[in-house]
Amino acid sequence: MKHLRKQIAGYLLTLILLMAGIVFPGSGEKVLASGGSMTVHFLDVGQGLSILVQSEGQNLLYDGGPRSASSYVVSYLQEQNVSEIDYLISSHYDEDHVSGLIGCLNAFQVDNVIGADYIHDSSLYGSFMDAVAAHGLEVQHPAVGAEYTFGSGEFTILSPKEISKESNANSVAIKLTNGENSFVFTGDADFNCEADMVNSGLDLSCDVLSVGHHGSATSTSWDFLQAAVPEFAVISCGAGNMYGHPHADTMEKLSDMGIQVYRSDEQGTIVASSDGSAITWSADPCNDYTSGDGETAGQSEGEKGFTAEDNSGTDAAAASEKSEQIAAADDSQEEMVWISATGSKYHSIPDCGNMNPDKAYQEPVSQAEAQGYEACKKCF
Ligand SMILES: [Zn+2]
Ligand SMILES: [Zn+2]
Repeated sequence: MKHLRKQIAGYLLTLILLMAGIVFPGSGEKVLASGGSMTVHFLDVGQGLSILVQSEGQNLLYDGGPRSASSYVVSYLQEQNVSEIDYLISSHYDEDHVSGLIGCLNAFQVDNVIGADYIHDSSLYGSFMDAVAAHGLEVQHPAVGAEYTFGSGEFTILSPKEISKESNANSVAIKLTNGENSFVFTGDADFNCEADMVNSGLDLSCDVLSVGHHGSATSTSWDFLQAAVPEFAVISCGAGNMYGHPHADTMEKLSDMGIQVYRSDEQGTIVASSDGSAITWSADPCNDYTSGDGETAGQSEGEKGFTAEDNSGTDAAAASEKSEQIAAADDSQEEMVWISATGSKYHSIPDCGNMNPDKAYQEPVSQAEAQGYEACKKCF
């Protein structure tokens, strides 16, 4: 009787709370969806980098590609109805990034220019500075962690922490956020620059990573990749480029982590559209993990062929007994490994990196190796 009364009192209390509109914690977390749209265009500029971001009438241009692509970049922006560039960001002053920015400074109204604080010994650097000055502007050198609102989202400066003699290591990297979606652009940032980003304590996690330095092996360290854990990687490089970009090391890491890949050398210009909660793409990822330097990521050495034993005489029985023992041991101890839906590696866990655990399946390690899979360097 006492219990029943207690129960009724409990129900009444719940009813009153519900009527008062008190929502139980955890029953519906508020999501900060921006509701705005943001479009990220990875322009096919050949061997170089140029990314246009548009949101709520604002435009951000991150690098402008090489000289050879300068007129393409200007006409592409015009086709997207760009007349004013709110933020023009030069990752660093190498020709394949800064050249096209000069063309854009000449063709459009520009409000803010962001770049690294070093002097590059080239006439292009001088032309870029002249073009910035012609707008009555100066290049801004924001500190790591600086935040800017842009369109329906914002972007944060991730690097450079300090200026180095290496042009690439001075790259201005940014993280762009729109609601729940995020993109990281790192220019040609190298391992050192990436380590600074990881150590900065800034949140590097993202949905989409513009792979550093066109997929060179001097960028995309394990530490950085594990801090970013992107679902998609976009590589901007020229078909058959003389540097062999993207390099096998980088492609192997992306493959190991089950990161889906877009490549400008195979797919041309690629466009990602974010509505604040989901990203839609202009094309499916090519997921081609082949490197540009002739090596193939995940290529196996080929199976080691068995040599036929000389099973003559009395040794035959002993030999066969021995092989039976080995087979029995294999049966009982055969390690099971995880295979992801994409990629060329086998894993010790079903959710290594970015692999989809729902699509992963298990099989014996010997079978995986016979099929050409190799051990993932991250989880083995
Ligand atoms: Zn560079
Ligand atoms: Zn470059």
